[in-house]
Amino acid sequence: MGGATARVPAKINLHLGVGPLRADGFHELSTLYCALSLYDDVNVRYADELSVTVRGEGRKQVPADATNLAARAVVALAERAGTDPRVAITIDKAIPVAGGMAGGSADAAGALIAAARLWRRDISRNDLLEVAAELGSDVPFSVIGGVALGTGRGEKLLPVLQRGELHWVLAVSGVGLSTPAVYREIDRLRDRAQNDPSAVDQLVTAGTASPDALMQALTSGDVHAVAGLLHNDLQPAALSLQPMLRRTLRAGKEAGALAGIVSGSGPTCAFLCADADAAVRVAAELSGSGVAKAVRTAVGPVPGARLIQQS
Ligand code: C5P
Repeated sequence: MGGATARVPAKINLHLGVGPLRADGFHELSTLYCALSLYDDVNVRYADELSVTVRGEGRKQVPADATNLAARAVVALAERAGTDPRVAITIDKAIPVAGGMAGGSADAAGALIAAARLWRRDISRNDLLEVAAELGSDVPFSVIGGVALGTGRGEKLLPVLQRGELHWVLAVSGVGLSTPAVYREIDRLRDRAQNDPSAVDQLVTAGTASPDALMQALTSGDVHAVAGLLHNDLQPAALSLQPMLRRTLRAGKEAGALAGIVSGSGPTCAFLCADADAAVRVAAELSGSGVAKAVRTAVGPVPGARLIQQS
């Protein structure tokens, strides 16, 4: 295949603090992103018209037209660079679709990096990150990877120091969860909790939990401390919409994971394990338990979007 190809990692949120709903429809976030070794490959090559082809698992749920975030990324970058957006985009998916692991954002980040290379335009990293932020809250992180603190709606990033590799098992659900629906559900649960504090779990109202202790644990490379500090404000909303995820979380812990958490808006569940051997054992047990459609192992952090083939 000619053209340029970028490889882009999935992400999980080690900490996801969700603040109030803003006037622009987004929530103020304080989040710690971590890029994981599950990748989508995005190829961009010259063509007579803009097109999108999606291959791999879950492809039927991904729009193969101009509404795909990767196509919108190419159009936005072409505008910024003053060039023609007619390219053929081919996406090979390994990141779960609608899984809360930023698969769509990864494809947009990959399309930006690959198109910039194809067009040989001198686009600064800052310009690229600005276009990325306009496309979606997680797209800038898909570009930079590693571990980063995200604020604003998640698009303002500060890289975070971290020591050692973390070993994960991912339980991919057979049903997707829509990100806007999960955010709406957390607003609904919070409203309800405000009116009747006894009715709802305290977690629902947290909102202001700080990622500071987790950042310290990451810096010292203490996996047990990291496991104890994983936090997701969206988890009660994801569990409310998909109650069977409780079983998945329980199964992962029973299989020997140090901790389990819903990834972002879900429904993928991420389990942190003590080491690579433990991750293989947990994955084998979870596969046999029937709580997930697919089970994967991954390590993190890994670098962000990078070119693997250049025209
Ligand atoms: O930015 P992105 O397109 O990924 O966001 C998808 C949806 O998720 C938004 O339309 C919004 O409903 C919700 N969201 C939010 N607050 C954020 C990020 C996303 O409410 N910080």
